[in-house]
Amino acid sequence: MPQLSPVLKQATPVVATRGEGMYLYDADDRRHLDFTSGVGVTSTGHCHPRVVEAVRQQAGQLIHGQYTTVLHNQLLQLTERLGDVLPPGLDSLFFLNSGSEAVEAALRLARHATGRQNVIVFDGGFHGRTMGAASLTTAGTRFRAGIGPLMPGVAVAPFPSAFRLGMSKEEAVEYALRGLDRVLATVTAPAETAAMFVEPVLGEGGYIPAPAAFLAGLRERADRHGILLVLDEVQTGFGRTGRFWAHQHSAGVVPDVVITAKGLASGFPLSAIAAPTELMAKAWPGSQGGTYGGNAVACAAALATLDVIRDERLVANAAEQGARLLEGLRKVASEFPVIADVRGLGLMAGSEFCLPDGSPDPLTAQRAQRAAAERGLLLLPCGEHGNIIRMIPALVVKAAQIDEALTLWSAAV
Ligand code: PLP
Repeated sequence: MPQLSPVLKQATPVVATRGEGMYLYDADDRRHLDFTSGVGVTSTGHCHPRVVEAVRQQAGQLIHGQYTTVLHNQLLQLTERLGDVLPPGLDSLFFLNSGSEAVEAALRLARHATGRQNVIVFDGGFHGRTMGAASLTTAGTRFRAGIGPLMPGVAVAPFPSAFRLGMSKEEAVEYALRGLDRVLATVTAPAETAAMFVEPVLGEGGYIPAPAAFLAGLRERADRHGILLVLDEVQTGFGRTGRFWAHQHSAGVVPDVVITAKGLASGFPLSAIAAPTELMAKAWPGSQGGTYGGNAVACAAALATLDVIRDERLVANAAEQGARLLEGLRKVASEFPVIADVRGLGLMAGSEFCLPDGSPDPLTAQRAQRAAAERGLLLLPCGEHGNIIRMIPALVVKAAQIDEALTLWSAAV
């Protein structure tokens, strides 16, 4: 009998049969509080009735149009509606299916638009598993090892990971920007550098928010050198961090290109890049695309997602519940010295486990994650060593569910 490939590494043994709001249910109808959201995807919770209804209706009208052949209303409507939430000036959109594909699309755009080949990425960044995206990824050797040669022309600059560096946030920003200047002086000259790709909060790399001064420093250097600033908001966008886009925590920082996916369509495969029209027009016509890109049912789900986020004030809820979650996690950490750092932004929260000598402690972290799963709380590890346990509940999470998760977490550590 065929089986799923052993390459699949599952964090929990749960086989889900249905989902409702913050909970997944298994075949025994056991309830699991889902603080993973399908890795930050089901922003409106599992099977939000308005998303379900939109999808049901759309599936009865048109499932697949294919934008290189015909357009369809959902794609046009979604393009227009995203104008309400996108940063100013980013008025041109191109749709794909996954985060990795959108990263590839941004990479193509950056090279076409600038005529330059090289790209700067930041230590601990994750941009996906396709070959171009994996070439930009430094979050963990498992994403790159043994599949080379990867794309040449990728230079790595430091990310201001204050806890890892043992520095204050200010010192870490200064260190990282000095490192970036050194990369521009010695590794890839500005005239050869198309873009900088950065996550406003490192996701797979360990849930580390980029301080506002760091993103401002990147913007300043991008302007000075004519390099594009590409923000990978695949995990951080759509309200996840308590602002619609995570970079909006950094006043005055407007990217040249935004990449979005995950929370965009409440679980349907859909991603997009957004950029100013003049920039997007520099991509070679026909150079971008994908058979399923901008699928009609996925676009209908995204339209309903935007409605739900607006009507249920989910961005404000993410900020409010995120603050409650971080405060609660810090309280738990104060009781368990093995949790050496708690950090995050909005509903992206991480607890980093370390041994007394400060080295990563993935064994204790993952034991706690499994113990939480046994108690009915689903969590995921992240970071190069897997010693950071992250919580990414849906944006519909209520205070009582945050408290329920914190009680289960405290018992599991
Ligand atoms: N970029 C970021 C920041 C991500 O977190 C991810 C996925 O976790 C990706 C890109 C890749 O997205 P996908 O897995 O949809 O290809």
